[in-house]
Formats: sequence, structure tokens, C-alpha cells
Amino acid sequence: MSRDSDWIDFEATVSTDEDQIAIAPGYLQKEWKKDGRRYFHYKMDSKILNFYAFNSAKYEVKRDKWNDVNLEIYYHKGHEYNLDRMMKGIKASLDYNTKYFSPYQHKQVRIIEFPRTQGTFAQSFPNTIPFSEGIGFIADIDEKRDNGVDYAFAVTVHELAHQWWAHQVIGADVLGATMLSESLAEYVALKVLEHKQGKTQMRKFLKKALDKYLRSRTFERKRENALMYNDGQGYVRYQKGSLIFYALSDYIGEKKLNGALKKYVEKVKFQDAPYTTSIEMVDEIRKVVPDSLQYTIKDMFETVTLYRNRVKTVTSTKLDNGKYKVDIEFEVSKYRNDEKGKTYYDEQKKDSLVYKPEGKKAIVSVPLADYIDIGVFGEKKDKDGKTKETELYFKKHKITQINNKVSIIVDEKPVEVGVDPYNKLIDTDSDNNRKKVK
Ligand SMILES: [Zn+2]
Repeated sequence: MSRDSDWIDFEATVSTDEDQIAIAPGYLQKEWKKDGRRYFHYKMDSKILNFYAFNSAKYEVKRDKWNDVNLEIYYHKGHEYNLDRMMKGIKASLDYNTKYFSPYQHKQVRIIEFPRTQGTFAQSFPNTIPFSEGIGFIADIDEKRDNGVDYAFAVTVHELAHQWWAHQVIGADVLGATMLSESLAEYVALKVLEHKQGKTQMRKFLKKALDKYLRSRTFERKRENALMYNDGQGYVRYQKGSLIFYALSDYIGEKKLNGALKKYVEKVKFQDAPYTTSIEMVDEIRKVVPDSLQYTIKDMFETVTLYRNRVKTVTSTKLDNGKYKVDIEFEVSKYRNDEKGKTYYDEQKKDSLVYKPEGKKAIVSVPLADYIDIGVFGEKKDKDGKTKETELYFKKHKITQINNKVSIIVDEKPVEVGVDPYNKLIDTDSDNNRKKVK
């Protein structure tokens, strides 16, 4: 966080124009006016990182409470549009992080609006989160639209999660440190969205993150390391990192993954130097991953591994009993990239899988004993008359070869099928995982 010091005591007196509110981390001790200026004295009651910000403006304040914690949003008059979404985001993040990891260390949360001309980002200082008007306050959010994302809510959840993942758990200044902060904060945002909207709504978030990761990595000029040794590139620490933790929570279970993270938090929170590293976190996770899924640790954290999964053909036959038989042919393969993007399939160069389709180039893969979601989807009209996707069949299959055929019986007319249909996995092409039933 800062190379100048470790933990500090924080106290500040800030003055500003008479009609403005000045904000710094800590709790307000005293406020007074003198010589046409307004003064604020803030003091923090516990040690914090050497990391703080000052804001001052003509603020309106929206207040609320979460247990004993005071919640405050400082905003520009007229920018009330998304205050409720942001307040919900604060509460949802406090709920999730305290439920699974550890108590919140402060007695207040403050979000402070700043103008777009200063940037479109938010940043989490101790109990104080400056937040650009451009990514929340004046956002025009329409969740009814198919790709509409309540990002005022999601960004708030992410920033608040940093009070744990950056302010309780502090990584040493080494490769992979941002996995402990950004990947985890964004993972929490995805999980909170999942609980709010339902698992089946997650594809739009996951696919967006995956596509951004895939696009960004093609512009890499230096190197792309595995997640746990990453150099801090945004596309690795946010997009890939959050996808990895989300997928892992799906594979081993949210409670199990968060249980391992909780143990880790208990071990390292508020520690003094030497600080923790991603190796210590991954060791804690490894302990709760069953043998059959240990390959995920290597694929997700220790190497850069990508799938090439796709549905090749699908046919559906109506049976005499009114059910449908769905025949799906699909491919699963995966490869690894070294830090320069060079592809390889295994360490020994002898046990990789090869499949040669008729008249086409051979497909090579890292050996497989992988569990992959297979889904068959139908359609239903909801109460507004809008067509909604329904899951007719959804299950993980153990895959050991590249080319696969399955027959699945479903009760209703199938519309679409998919291999990893929600894009949980890092896959070179996010679009060919699904195919319409003709
Ligand atoms: Zn962040």
C-alpha cells in the first residue's frame, strides 16, 4: 500500500470554506468556525494503513444504520438517483463480509461523491470511500434491459469489501499481492450479485468479465503470469481473479471456500511485517479442495490455463411419453500459456490428449479429468409476458476426453444447450459454449 510506513495512528484537522464539509478518515471529534473558515477535527481509534484522502464540497448527507454502524453518503444536491442502490450495496457488503470472514473494524462507513473531472473510479480508504459521480451517483441504470447491470450497487459492494481485502488482509509488496485485494473484493461483488439476482442471472456478469480478460490479454506486452504470481494488471487481478474465485466457490461450495478464507483472515488480519502472500492463501484453500478437484488449484492459481469448450451439434427428438431426448456432441479441451503466451499442453510432453476430427486439424489438450457443467434450457413466459430461460437439466459431468456425446431426457421442449453455459471457466471463446436446438 505504502512504501513509507507500516501501520499509523491517524488524526487530522482540516479547514474549508464556510459552506462546505471537509472529510478525512476517522471519526469527527469537533467542528468549529473561525475567521470565515469551517474546521473539522478527525481522529481514528485504531491503527490504519498509511493511506488516506481529503474531500471537501457543499455536501448533502444521506444517513442510515447497519447494526451499530453509522452509514453516510455525502452527495451533491440533485444527485439523489442511486443513493438507495448504494445504501443497499453498503449493507449487502457488510452482511456478506461479516457473515463469512470477520467483523467490520469501524463504527462508520462514509461514501463521498467527487466530480467526474477527477476521474471515474472509487477508492476505499479506512471507513471512507471517495466515489466518482461517474460510476454511481449519476448512472442511468436499467436492469430491465437484458445486459443492464446495477453497477452503482456492485461498485459499492466491491469498495466496501476492501475494508477486509486491503485493510484487514494486507499483502506483502510481491507478485500476486493484488489477488488478496482486488480479486477478493470483486469476488465478493459477484457473490453478492448472485445472492441478489439468482445463479441463473450470473452469465451476463461472468461473460462480461471473461470477454474483457480475453480481449485485454491480447494487448499484453510484458508478460502474463498465473493469478497467484500476477504483476498487477487490471485484467488479471479484477476480471480473471474474480472469475477464478467465483468458479471455485461453485466447484467446492461457497461455504467451504469462504471457510478457508475465514481461517486465512483470522491468521493474518492486522498483522505486522512480514506480511502475507498469495502462497499462504492458496495453501489454506488447497486444504479444503477434494482430491478429485485438486487440478483446479493448478489450473486456476498456479498456471495460465484456458479451456476451448464448445457445443458441436445438438438434436432433439420428441418421445412417445411426451418427453424429449436431447443428443449433444461437444468438445472439451484445455491448454496452458507460459508468461509470453506460448501454448503448451503438459509438462512431460507425452501424456497430452489428441483428437483428430475427420478432415480437420487435430485438437490437443492437457490431460482431462475435469468436471464441466452441461445444461439444457427451455423457455417460459413470466408474468410480464417476457420470455425467460429455464433450466431443464443442469449438472456437472466428469470429462476425460476431448470429443463427447451425451443423451439427456428432459420433460419440456428444449431450446438451447450448453457446455459450461454460464461461462464460469476461463474459455478462449465465450460464445460457442451454447447452441440453439433446431
Ligand atoms: Zn478495488
